[in-house]
Amino acid sequence: MFSISIKGSFEGPRDLGLDRISMDATCPRCQLQTPFFLRDVRLGRVLVCRGCRVNIALNDYLGGYERTRKRLTRSMDDLVKTLSRLGQ
Ligand SMILES: [Zn+2]
Repeated sequence: MFSISIKGSFEGPRDLGLDRISMDATCPRCQLQTPFFLRDVRLGRVLVCRGCRVNIALNDYLGGYERTRKRLTRSMDDLVKTLSRLGQ
């Protein structure tokens, strides 16, 4: 037999590490890639191109960040429920 205990609270806002995912933005002017974090998208920050110094607005394109976050949160909730049932 085995038992599972779940520590910590799963309530409240969770970023599930999304903030630390890094991506590259391609400059519309010089095509150089500039790295950024998803946190920068969430906060609506503006990148400065490493090549030509043009400003690149990191709009959350079609709400992709929020959609991804909700989907991951739902998956985590399902996993926690399943694990809780196993532990009983
Ligand atoms: Zn550029």
